[in-house]
Amino acid sequence: MLNKKPGLLHNCRTREKSLHELSLTQNLIEIAEEHASRAGASAIKSITMKIGTLSGVIPDAIEFAFDVCTKGTIAEGASLEILHIPAVGQCRQCLEECRMENLTDACPLCGSFALDILRGQEMSFTEMEID
Ligand SMILES: [Zn+2]
Repeated sequence: MLNKKPGLLHNCRTREKSLHELSLTQNLIEIAEEHASRAGASAIKSITMKIGTLSGVIPDAIEFAFDVCTKGTIAEGASLEILHIPAVGQCRQCLEECRMENLTDACPLCGSFALDILRGQEMSFTEMEID
């Protein structure tokens, strides 16, 4: 288990989608390699990460980038597990909590658009298995 590094991998707002995922994935692998070498590991067997449904990150693109970026690293051949974190918002008007599919969703109870996103915007490295 590793401590999360908040803010490191999320809230990048670029329109260059594939490049975006590629650099996020590179970042992720660098973090994993750093932790693995500190732990004296010779190989990374699997990496688990969380992707919020409102993070703007495309999981398929991450999986593709992962295969590309792990080539020649100690994470080559590692499996990637992605945990999808459903987005939840809270209405500022009536304080109702609701599932959010889009950033523009309204409160199902009172129809207000003033929702604070409680979770679902994050993308983070969660844990990994090493040898
Ligand atoms: Zn409401």
